[in-house]
Amino acid sequence: MPIRVWDYLPEYAAEREDLLDAVDTVFSSGQLVLGESVAGFEREFAAYHGVPHCVGVDNGTNAIKLALQALGVGPGDEVITVSNTAAPTVVAIDATGAVPVFVDVNEDDFLMDTSLVEAAITPRTKALLPVHLYGQCVRMEPLRQLADAHGLAILEDCAQAHGARQNGRLAGTWGQAAAFSFYPTKVLGAYGDGGGVITPDEEVSERLRRLRFYGMAQQYYTLETPAHNSRLDEVQAEILRRKLRRLDGYVAGRRALARRYEEGLGDTALRLPATVPGNEHVYYVYVVRHPRRDDILEALKAHDIALNISYPWPVHTMSGFAHLGHGPGDLPVTEKLAGEIFSLPMYPSLSHERQDLVIEAVRDVLAKL
Ligand SMILES: *Cc1c(COP(=O)(O)O)cnc(C)c1O
Repeated sequence: MPIRVWDYLPEYAAEREDLLDAVDTVFSSGQLVLGESVAGFEREFAAYHGVPHCVGVDNGTNAIKLALQALGVGPGDEVITVSNTAAPTVVAIDATGAVPVFVDVNEDDFLMDTSLVEAAITPRTKALLPVHLYGQCVRMEPLRQLADAHGLAILEDCAQAHGARQNGRLAGTWGQAAAFSFYPTKVLGAYGDGGGVITPDEEVSERLRRLRFYGMAQQYYTLETPAHNSRLDEVQAEILRRKLRRLDGYVAGRRALARRYEEGLGDTALRLPATVPGNEHVYYVYVVRHPRRDDILEALKAHDIALNISYPWPVHTMSGFAHLGHGPGDLPVTEKLAGEIFSLPMYPSLSHERQDLVIEAVRDVLAKL
């Protein structure tokens, strides 16, 4: 078996009984859609964050899209974000009809360079959309000050940052709303698709409940805005409820693996991830950097280690976003990073023995470069 960047099978082996019980709980409940498991997960995920509202949706992309719409973002508005992210961040902005406006990232921590945001604000700017990339929070204090000064909403993209903290405060509790993905690879992952939005704002949560359910305020009655169907699946919700109880344990496991990478690779030419002061990083992915990235990945294949790159192509250079009018050279740090970064295996059920094989192989490959 090759060692891959992510694998869920060891976790499934360890948690199988509980997960199958979750499936049986839903199948036996008599209500397969928007039943007690979705409601229970929403309560428990909101409580985990100490916020009053959570609305479960079908995936993280729709969580972002619907949250933007619930915050009043629509055609003609501008949303400031980064290109150094998973494409769905930008797909979701685009889907509302708003225009994604990109700022570059910091070279050391890969996160939104908050010093560039003010210059990107125009009269059309409606929201700031920081992405807590790879498992740690964007510096939120400067963004809150800008948002307050300019009357902008903040939507946090928390798809990679379940359980991450900044100065003790959880990711997702800084803005008007925060969008989560529960895609299987995420720090809190379902066994299929899932997403959710948390918000302190009752009105935003009510809008989200309508937006995920044909625009209906109550069964069979669509209010003024017809909408799609974006419900969180009941089975996935019950699985997420079970896994939420273990979230802090998953995070501890990831942080322990990160410490072991630091011990095993800290003296090499690889640049290991930098943590913003005050941040508790949850290491959704463990992204390292080396100018000869492609040679390293190629050589690691001979060791039966298949790694990947998050992300090889900056969003603003993708042909699907050509209509935004960007090109190479627009975001120099983002573009430079895309050519040098790659991810080492990172998931809490990765055994230390297998991690040691990775560390040895990487050391061997670097020594022979
Ligand atoms: C995974 C991810 C998403 C999209 O989530 P899906 O559940 O796959 O739709 C959005 N933003 C970021 C940063 C992500 O990593």
